[in-house]
Amino acid sequence: MTDDTNASQRRAAGPLSAPGRIKEIASAANPIVKDIRALSQKRHRDETGLFLVEGLKLVLDGLDAGWELATLVVSKAALQGGSEVLTRVVSRAVGIGADVIEASAKVLEAIARRDNPQSAIGVFRRRLTPLSKVALASGEVAVALDRVRDPGNLGTILRTADAVGAKSVILVGDCVDPFSLETVRATMGSIFAVPVVRAKEAEFLAWRQGFSGQIVGTHMTGAVDYRTPDYAAATLLFMGNEQAGLSAEMAGTCDLLVRIPQAGRADSLNLAVATGVMLFEARRKALTL
Ligand code: SAM
Repeated sequence: MTDDTNASQRRAAGPLSAPGRIKEIASAANPIVKDIRALSQKRHRDETGLFLVEGLKLVLDGLDAGWELATLVVSKAALQGGSEVLTRVVSRAVGIGADVIEASAKVLEAIARRDNPQSAIGVFRRRLTPLSKVALASGEVAVALDRVRDPGNLGTILRTADAVGAKSVILVGDCVDPFSLETVRATMGSIFAVPVVRAKEAEFLAWRQGFSGQIVGTHMTGAVDYRTPDYAAATLLFMGNEQAGLSAEMAGTCDLLVRIPQAGRADSLNLAVATGVMLFEARRKALTL
């Protein structure tokens, strides 16, 4: 078969009310491949509302969580090699109306920008939760991040927030894109589990007026040991920017500022590590039940 040949005869049976199309693409210069590759840039993600997810496990996580899969790119070689799980995912994708591309190794490498690409790449429609939907009950916890800049940190924080059952992660101000390839990779699938909110500083400050729980800010000069507060109330943990920490305005909106004691010479903890320490402390009672 040549580029873009319709391969619908290999389409597996499924609930075909709005079946997706199957195409075969061998050339990385194909315009569809170019469009998918462009999703590595934030501008294209913002324009299309789509983002890339690498690997069969993450694609399955997204499908299981009910996120909209627009396109599934799969390794033609792996399909021909008889991968049952891949065949099932293709069938599932077609059944829900996603387009499927059976791709050459060159195409997969071009999209993932890697020498050893995964056998599946998903193009999903992103989801953001409005700030107005964030509500916490007693004992629940959420995280707010002031201008987080590092995609690996954000991905790790989302994964950790998922692990402790945090209710949401609020990105305040100019934060890194939660749907960048690097962030999504670092979440290991938790991007599909934790509601992500984006808010400008002013929106956050306005929402804060109606928030009845406590906001616990983390600060290098925090007067309170992080193990002191009672986290039984609804708690929003507020974490600072990697370089600058919490801005004075954001620190000023917190009910209290806590510090994680340190013994050695390090100035501070890595943001994701500090968030992990805080989340496990805040959820300690719930996690030991
Ligand atoms: N130079 C920055 C400052 O003075 O705030 C360091 C920022 S630190 C790398 C990034 C964030 O991690 C901080 O804003 C805070 O939220 C958290 N953090 C790191 N170490 C901490 C500690 N020992 N106690 C409390 N928060 C900490």
